[in-house]
Amino acid sequence: MEKNNDSRRMMRERKTIKLMIELYCTDHHKKDSRPCEDCGALLDYAYLRLLKCTFADKKPACSKCRVHCYSPDMRDKIRNVMKYSGPRLIKHNPILSLRHLFNGLKSKKIIY
Ligand SMILES: [Zn+2]
Repeated sequence: MEKNNDSRRMMRERKTIKLMIELYCTDHHKKDSRPCEDCGALLDYAYLRLLKCTFADKKPACSKCRVHCYSPDMRDKIRNVMKYSGPRLIKHNPILSLRHLFNGLKSKKIIY
């Protein structure tokens, strides 16, 4: 399968995950540096997973993905972040989050 990690899709994924983690960190950890050390590590991890994602720019939304590439503890963390920030992102950045949801809907059709 051809990979294209610099596609607009992948850049959008990176931007979305960064916004989600920063929003979560701002509201939960209230550290001077944003994202804090923990969340920075989570962001690095998420970027790396995206980079190594089997599906690359053909990947479904991570929540719908069949391949669980996150380690269990990182998966818990990112799940909390998405649960918290997902709905809030719609207020902050409607276009970005609507696209994210739309990708989720599209991929649902392909898999199921
Ligand atoms: Zn944090």
